[in-house]
Amino acid sequence: MSAARFEQIALIGIGLIGSSIAHAARRAGLAGRIVGSARTAATVETALRLDIIDEGFDSAAEAARGSDLVVLCTPVGICGVVAKEIAEANTFRDGAILTDVGSVKGAIVRDVTPHVPKNVHFVPGHPIAGTEQSGPESGFAELFDSRWCILTPPADCDSAAVAKLRGFWEGLGSQVDTMSADHHDRVLAITSHVPHLIAFNIVNTAGHLERVTDREVIKFSAGGFRDFTRIAASDPTMWRDVFLNNKDAVLEMLQRFSEDLTALQRAIRYDEGDTLHRLFTEASALRRGIIEAGQDTDEPDFGRRVAGPQEAKRENDDD
Ligand code: NAP
Repeated sequence: MSAARFEQIALIGIGLIGSSIAHAARRAGLAGRIVGSARTAATVETALRLDIIDEGFDSAAEAARGSDLVVLCTPVGICGVVAKEIAEANTFRDGAILTDVGSVKGAIVRDVTPHVPKNVHFVPGHPIAGTEQSGPESGFAELFDSRWCILTPPADCDSAAVAKLRGFWEGLGSQVDTMSADHHDRVLAITSHVPHLIAFNIVNTAGHLERVTDREVIKFSAGGFRDFTRIAASDPTMWRDVFLNNKDAVLEMLQRFSEDLTALQRAIRYDEGDTLHRLFTEASALRRGIIEAGQDTDEPDFGRRVAGPQEAKRENDDD
């Protein structure tokens, strides 16, 4: 039996990430049982119907009871509230591992840690894998394959618990790295959070332009803009919580982005073709580095054929 196997995994929140964990854990035989809770009864019912969970509960505290792994898969802003609810009900199992999948780490460590009992090991985590879709029906077993999962264990964290969770994520298909929560939040601000903000903004700017009708935006949406619209379709609650909980790093990266954008504006205004060519060449080299690192393919993408449901599922946003 795998050392990374858990007797009972509790998924608190059964959306894209929670359901994908369930599918991948079953694929790898890493779960004796999977139980879960969500905000609404409808989600729990859907998860039961799709065999994502073996048993559903109407509270996080009841789902946590008897579970040796509890995974918080809710929006970032609610993780502390959920941890408090379980702690107050006193339903954490002795020696359980508590983790989360939130896209921000510092705020979750701040909000969750005060509610973690001494006999529970809190190992924060973030799978850098996702799509723009939400809900229990959007999950799939391959989501984490070859993607990174970052763990941000505090300095005094039990090393056996960290090793077990690392093995679990590797069993789900991920590569695992560890770093501080603060470092995670700065890296993800530039690689994920600011790009999403840019996507939300550019799509809204196009939508608000009076002279560009909706029909033209849709009709001529090719390449770059269409990809922005896909990213901008991401769940508004999740992303509201990301920006409210990673303020400092996002504002710092946005400041740098604005300065670089101003440099591009100047180069265009003053016909500095060499500058534009040099900056675009630098960007293109970074793209090659991502492909060489195995984090994307070099298949032609702009103008790709319209994706069917399975292909749409495979679009991986690395959130
Ligand atoms: P999702 O598909 O919208 O699912 C969120 C789940 O949380 C739903 O089951 C929802 O229940 C539940 N929930 C919301 N409030 C709750 C509460 N108060 N108590 C219990 N359950 C609650 O979201 P997701 O994409 O899986 O994202 C979940 C987490 O993963 C977020 O923290 C996000 O930052 C992180 N993450 C997301 C991605 C991505 O690409 N989406 C990638 C990596 C990490 P209902 O359905 O009943 O509302």
